[in-house]
Amino acid sequence: MVKLSPSLPADRLIVFSGIQPSGEIHVGNYLGAIRNWAAMLDEHFCIFCIVDYHAVTIEYDPAGMQQRILEAAAVNIAAGLDPSRCKLFVQSHVPEHTELAWVFSSVCAMGELGRMTQFKEKSRQHAENVNAGLFTYPVLQAADILLYKASGVPVGEDQVQHIELCRDVARRFNARYGQVFPEAGAMLTASKRVMGLDGKAKMSKSLGNHIGLLEKDESIREKLRPAYTDPARLRRTDPGNPDICNIFTMHQGFSPPPLVSEVDRECRRAGIGCFECKMKLADSMRTALDPIRDRAADLLRSPSTVQGILSDSASFCRSVAGDTMAEVREVMGLR
Ligand code: SF4
Repeated sequence: MVKLSPSLPADRLIVFSGIQPSGEIHVGNYLGAIRNWAAMLDEHFCIFCIVDYHAVTIEYDPAGMQQRILEAAAVNIAAGLDPSRCKLFVQSHVPEHTELAWVFSSVCAMGELGRMTQFKEKSRQHAENVNAGLFTYPVLQAADILLYKASGVPVGEDQVQHIELCRDVARRFNARYGQVFPEAGAMLTASKRVMGLDGKAKMSKSLGNHIGLLEKDESIREKLRPAYTDPARLRRTDPGNPDICNIFTMHQGFSPPPLVSEVDRECRRAGIGCFECKMKLADSMRTALDPIRDRAADLLRSPSTVQGILSDSASFCRSVAGDTMAEVREVMGLR
């Protein structure tokens, strides 16, 4: 039986997820992750961490780090991570993350880490800087999760391998030192993957195929105009297939159900053109995103409010992390 810190509720699933403090948050992040997290806040005990220590494993601009952290926090709060119903803090404000990562690195095999798909991909993308931090990234991720004894980790398919490694780390630690950690499981979301506007790859800021969550209405319309749709629909009179169209995926994310059904039906019988369909999507996005943009702007005008939220959560998390590390040191004979 795993013992929880007295600061954590015993009757709710502890859920942990990490947020990168890098780049602009886009609608793919919102539909694929943030909105699903927001829907969990009442059911589970949710802890969200802005993972600045993970972010330093690739080249970055140190001068802009604090602003990126602030923006990541403000946009996530504005998009639904209500700080009165969850914890949102910065990883480096809780030093136990790196302490536990060191402990876990002694129960994690080199061969296992070398097999991680993300390490191979990042090594290719950042060939000039393949550092040890990139290699041990999943060990720090396991520490992030297990420091709070989280059992649920909402992730995309691409992170499932890391969650399996986290389970292996917990199992090996427990076998060697006693039952301390739960075996966390990936919570895969039902939402469809949002592709980029070019239709070639997942929506991503680095690929420049994205729509920012705080982007202005006019700019969104400009970007949607040339966006990739069903390639078989060459003429306005050609029937389309919404099932393979990313514009329809976004309609499912932003439009009310009657409009989604209308687009589904009319697209198949060429009753609506792609331009009209895209402008209807832009209208739905404006309705959904205007309140988020307004809340984010308010928060960014008041950085001290955001810093206060991050600081309150960090102090809660330090208390839980302290309890976990005391237990870890005890079972490991470190005091
Ligand atoms: S009408 Fe809409 S859903 Fe159909 S192919 Fe065009 S953009 Fe896609």
